[in-house]
Amino acid sequence: MKNLRRIQDLECQRTKTTCDLEKTLEVIINDYIQKNDPVTKSEKVLHKLSLRTVNSNASINTDARANDNASGNQQTQIQNTKIVENSSKINNKHKASHPKINQRVAISSAIKHQVNQRDKGQCCYTNFQGARCLNRRWLDVHHRKPIASGGDNSIENLITLCKAHHRLQHESAP
Ligand SMILES: [Zn+2]
Ligand SMILES: [Zn+2]
Repeated sequence: MKNLRRIQDLECQRTKTTCDLEKTLEVIINDYIQKNDPVTKSEKVLHKLSLRTVNSNASINTDARANDNASGNQQTQIQNTKIVENSSKINNKHKASHPKINQRVAISSAIKHQVNQRDKGQCCYTNFQGARCLNRRWLDVHHRKPIASGGDNSIENLITLCKAHHRLQHESAP
């Protein structure tokens, strides 16, 4: 409670307006979601990557202007470089996960982000009536075709399942 009051003080100070407890909680909750929700994170990362592809030409212009307006543009330049580095890392990892068959390789963060975006952090098990499991906790990523049988870390081969349905898949597998 002491920390909550502290954050309330800080938020009033930062926004220079009165901030009630409800608003303070909203700030804390949003911050938590931004930092810890894999679905929100994946949305941000994939959006950044798509912007990078669209703006790859525009970034050249930004670089040219970097000399005129130092700090702001330099920041953009650094960010762009980072994203390029990250995405090439991601691509390399992705490539590296393919060549050897039957060998378990960690799922790359790029693939994890795409799985999180597709499955929205919810178990994908559907019952015989077509109703999807509502579980958003205790989630695992399951390989539809096991690595041991030649399955890979492709998005198509990965599915989000809750612990119970994950167990069920493995028990019912031939
Ligand atoms: Zn599994
Ligand atoms: Zn489930």
